[in-house]
Amino acid sequence: MEYEEICGVYQQLESTTKGLEKTKILSEFLGKIKSCPETIYLLQGKVFPDYDERVLGISQKLSIKAIAKATGISETEVIKEFKHLGDLGKVAEKIIGSKKQSVLFSKKLTVKKVLTNLRKLSELEGKGTVNKKLGLIIELLHSAKPAQAKYIIRTAIGDMKVGVGSGLLRDAIIESCFKPKNIKQKKEYIEIVQDAYNKSTDFAEVFEKTHKNKLKDISLSPGKPVKVMLFPKAKDVEDAFRIVGKPAAFEFKYDGFRVMINKDEKGDIKIFTRRLDNVTKQFPDIVRYAKEHIKAKAYIIDAEVVGYDPKTKQYQPFQAISQRIKRKYDIKKLEKQLPVELNVFDIIFYNSKNLISEKFEQRRKILEKIIKPAKYKIVLAEQIITNKKKKVEKFFDKAIKEGQEGLMAKSLEAPYKPGARVGYGVKLKPEDKDFDLVITEAEYGTGKRAGWLTSFDVSCRHEDKLLEIGKVSTGLKEKESEGLSFKELTKKLKKLIVEEHGRKVKVKPEIVVTVQYQNIQKSPTYSSGWALRFPRIKQLRPDRNKEDIATLTEIKKEV
Ligand code: ATP
Repeated sequence: MEYEEICGVYQQLESTTKGLEKTKILSEFLGKIKSCPETIYLLQGKVFPDYDERVLGISQKLSIKAIAKATGISETEVIKEFKHLGDLGKVAEKIIGSKKQSVLFSKKLTVKKVLTNLRKLSELEGKGTVNKKLGLIIELLHSAKPAQAKYIIRTAIGDMKVGVGSGLLRDAIIESCFKPKNIKQKKEYIEIVQDAYNKSTDFAEVFEKTHKNKLKDISLSPGKPVKVMLFPKAKDVEDAFRIVGKPAAFEFKYDGFRVMINKDEKGDIKIFTRRLDNVTKQFPDIVRYAKEHIKAKAYIIDAEVVGYDPKTKQYQPFQAISQRIKRKYDIKKLEKQLPVELNVFDIIFYNSKNLISEKFEQRRKILEKIIKPAKYKIVLAEQIITNKKKKVEKFFDKAIKEGQEGLMAKSLEAPYKPGARVGYGVKLKPEDKDFDLVITEAEYGTGKRAGWLTSFDVSCRHEDKLLEIGKVSTGLKEKESEGLSFKELTKKLKKLIVEEHGRKVKVKPEIVVTVQYQNIQKSPTYSSGWALRFPRIKQLRPDRNKEDIATLTEIKKEV
């Protein structure tokens, strides 16, 4: 397929904001790519499936260089255009458009060529690779028409702007493969296709299996991440019993971060966060504990990693170990400074068996059979099974006293549903007023804080859209040694800037923060229609991405 064809789809998508129209455009296009389902990644603005952790590593700076070299215009000129247009894709389109007459672009660009060159970018690392990377992009730009250049650059820097989120893609697959006749039918298909995606986390595979009528073939496979099951909140113990049934299992809700430990048939162990990041290298201690204390040929285990103080052995809140998630150096040192314990609470694959349809009590029994617990290394989540409110309240107090966040209540009979917040388990926590939100815009400070981003627009999620819900400028520290500082957050956000307008910048929505607030008010200022009053940044959540943030529906429940 020619690249031009997919660019036509991008253009159509850009010309409408209506979800139904976008679904129609996409579903028609899907009909044409049955022989090359990988084209779906380009629709998502990527070149790999969602579970794949490879990155292209193309910065704004490198794209500017590539545009300059490909067109023979100076970098200063390109930067000037960028300041004016605020979008490097548009810059490439404009400059290549104006150069078109002077150079003859003979070769037609194919989807395959774009995928191949962009994928190669992820394989290049270290010294001397800059020129190779430039070469790969320039080669594409040389054969690109102006509009194609726009989308090549946007894909390379990971900011497509066209907005094909996972909900939209799922609906388009349904429309293209099933053509549902009414809402009821559509809902049934949503359930089936979403379920398949949550296991596979690869839209190309989901599309291929859907149109070949082989969705049932999608299963779990250790080594490939799946979406974790999520839990709604219960108001109190009675509410928890009402949702999960009686008797129920109650477990400590550990204050750490979620991981899925995978061991494949060959014995290879991988650790994924809930945003599907592979953090195996960062946690050699967990790999060791898994090897030594879990007896099984292959598995996918769901667990919470909790930090503790190496001297006092006191459990620490999540924030204390959060730096271990992204840290790529001094791993050995950090492992000693910030030791962790693995609290295992579920298993969804055991030897060659997929367990997601098994009852929770059954899955827990398997865990009890295969795990040899060792305190401060690997333990099973502390659990009681009861139908008595009093017993639960006592257990809740114990959890809080031991420094944990509260309890999880779980239905004994329920299966595991990857990616869903279905209520097979609920969380019970003391009243808290905070949400995980994603930073979408920011503003540079003035005076003493010039050069630092000091005010941040935070957004919640509504289906595939991100909606602003407030501006936050407190909670951060001046000095790096005191905690999350302006400087640290600025450093992280600067890498993600996609547009600049004076002191304001727009960033890729990748940094998730927990924001505390006092109350929520109606507000015409923000696109969500609501504003958090007195918001304050509590912590970074490097283990989460924009799909894990609070939804508008959840926020409205707290009003
Ligand atoms: P929170 O901010 O309260 O952690 P969340 O919305 O980010 O909630 P939820 O899935 O709703 O995430 O809450 C459950 C989280 O609690 C899990 O994702 C997991 O990380 C953690 N957790 C700790 N202990 C347990 C346990 N025993 N069983 C299940 N989850 C647990």
